Amino acid sequence: SSGSAGTSGTRFDLDKETELRFEVEAGERVQLELLSGLGEVFGSELNRNKKYTFGPGSKIAVFTWHGCSVALSGKTEVAYISKDAPMLLYLNTHAALEQMRRQAEKENDRGPRVMVVGPTDVGKSTVCRVLLNYAVRLGRRPTLVELDVGQSSVSVPGTMSALCIERPADVEEGFSVQAPLVFHFGSTTPGTNIKLYNKLTSSLAEVFSQRCEVNRRASVGGCIINTCGWVKGSGYQALVHCASAFQVDVVLVLDQERLYNELKRDLPHFVRVVLLPKSGGVVERSKDCRRESRDEKIREYFYGFRGTSFYPHAFDVRFSDVRIYKIGAPSIPDSCLPLGMSQDDTQLKLVPVSPGRDLTHHVLSVSSLDDDAEVGAGQSRGILESPVCGFIVVTAVDTQAQVMTVLSPAPRPLPRHTLLIMDIRFIDLK
Ligand code: ATP
Repeated sequence: SSGSAGTSGTRFDLDKETELRFEVEAGERVQLELLSGLGEVFGSELNRNKKYTFGPGSKIAVFTWHGCSVALSGKTEVAYISKDAPMLLYLNTHAALEQMRRQAEKENDRGPRVMVVGPTDVGKSTVCRVLLNYAVRLGRRPTLVELDVGQSSVSVPGTMSALCIERPADVEEGFSVQAPLVFHFGSTTPGTNIKLYNKLTSSLAEVFSQRCEVNRRASVGGCIINTCGWVKGSGYQALVHCASAFQVDVVLVLDQERLYNELKRDLPHFVRVVLLPKSGGVVERSKDCRRESRDEKIREYFYGFRGTSFYPHAFDVRFSDVRIYKIGAPSIPDSCLPLGMSQDDTQLKLVPVSPGRDLTHHVLSVSSLDDDAEVGAGQSRGILESPVCGFIVVTAVDTQAQVMTVLSPAPRPLPRHTLLIMDIRFIDLK
């Protein structure tokens, strides 16, 4: 039931337990306003009479438990009300997790560690967001573990991270990203270096467990782990590895019965594996669309989000002042490996990169590793285990002068001098 609401746009009246789904047209913006009742966007409550703006390509659902009226203005590609959102199932899942947290509180135990899995475009990130929002709204302090290196909700693409959730996600901007723990992976798919991917998963699990030991609320809050949509072969093995590294208690499988059966078969019996339907609202995203949203994530890192603009800096960095590495040597046939060396060693090996023109546009992670720390081919440990303290993009390289120009969120000098190169490139159009 929709009708005109005059200058304030199109009015939609939603019955209880229904949702309004809409997509913003390319190049457009859409404003959403809650007129009456209660409504939420992916678990974050809407405020009455506040205008929320969504940028081009946004795909949004306003869900209501009790009924509400909202107004939309601007050009939407689609806008319709759906009566069969799986939110009730997600809420039940949340209730079960909350029960586990209460139990943990009583028995001085740890709260639920949950892994969300499924193929691409089934709404994994959205389910994570909903569950985290519901938990934090009850005063919990869950941790989001982001293992989706293609579409990270926490940091730039090519990273793996953990973030303590202290307040519900902002309706427009998502979770506030203060002090996340970020590791450099370097590419948008785990398959590029599965050894490194698994190793960083273990590192995150270790850091999280350490935090749980000293922080009771974090321990009770547990974690929600978002994973990649690659669920076959090594991608599947990475999920099994993650389940064991984090000692997960619950696995939520979205939409794929085969994956559900495989995990039930391969995970220890005490792990609860639950199959959940995907929401009909989740929209498939094309390769281009994914690339765009990756680009947007990097742009946001440097330039900020609509409300808060950042002013990045450009300056020259002398080649002699930095050391640049790539993690993982190109793999060579087993028979060619030096005696006593395995493929694992090559994938985790630190390869010095000599700066040249081909560095242009690459995203580099600035490692938090101490500048004095000795690094060598055999000593990649320190670097792999050091979180990242920021990112820069190489915008130009002058091989004659032996300097490169970089885009950086902070003015010169760089906070640290050990840089890790990503496969990912960003062309700064500003
Ligand atoms: P990937 O693994 O490819 O990163 P995903 O499985 O994590 O994808 P999401 O990012 O959660 O999927 O969802 C894909 C898109 O669908 C997002 O833009 C999200 O905002 C949108 N979306 C999710 N649920 C709904 C819904 N109920 N109605 C409308 N849009 C939705």
